[in-house]
Amino acid sequence: MNNLSREAILGIILSIALFTGIYFLLPEMEPKKELISFEQEKELGDKLIDLILKDEKKIKSGELYDLTDSIFQRLREFQDEQYRDIPYQMHLVKNAEVNAMALPGGHIVVYTGILKIMDHPDAFAGVVGHEMGHIAHRHIVDRLLTSVGVGALVTIIGGDPGLAHEAIHHLIHSAFSRKQETEADEFGYDLMIKSGFAPIYLSKLFAKFEEEIPTNDIPPILHSHPKHKDRITTAFSYPLPDDFEPAGFSQDRWLKLIDSL
Ligand SMILES: [Zn+2]
Repeated sequence: MNNLSREAILGIILSIALFTGIYFLLPEMEPKKELISFEQEKELGDKLIDLILKDEKKIKSGELYDLTDSIFQRLREFQDEQYRDIPYQMHLVKNAEVNAMALPGGHIVVYTGILKIMDHPDAFAGVVGHEMGHIAHRHIVDRLLTSVGVGALVTIIGGDPGLAHEAIHHLIHSAFSRKQETEADEFGYDLMIKSGFAPIYLSKLFAKFEEEIPTNDIPPILHSHPKHKDRITTAFSYPLPDDFEPAGFSQDRWLKLIDSL
């Protein structure tokens, strides 16, 4: 019986090419991320998120959860039509690490460590908007296809925990390309403005990263990013349209809740 789909055959060719190192010599067959459907990406993300959060303490209720969730829901509401069907899910995790990351299929993980250095709710909107950009552009699947290959991804979807750990290792230790980071930034700024969040508060967060985090401990959100100082300037001077209407989340309330972490 031979019922290999076109995707599976392309996947096998791509895996062999990656394995033998001739991938870069191949003509562009088609965008690689098309090898994995969004449904498969979602299944993959669901498997990975379960492993990543297995030993983590998730925050699922309370004032801080409600506030961050309201900001997240507002971003979702103001997205362009074409992204509305993405099943985004935000996971707030009690962990001192300064980190936020996107996983395949719509999962966004935010550690409370990064909230601690945000002095305004709009900065939170900026970080989540940026991660939504990586998901909307399917950057994570792109990265995984390059690092572990389509065969491994299909095997993980089929339930192989060993390969899933390997994929997580790659996600944690490899970086997005500079082009992908720029795309996610542009997506994030655009979404912030539409939803009433001011990028200037993200600029303050970037400046804080620079002050407070040793260069050898740069969080993934900054990996491979357009020059850090340029990024601070871009966010700082990002133009607000004349009809900009602030979403109006209170800074005092934000600071009070962050203080209690
Ligand atoms: Zn990024």
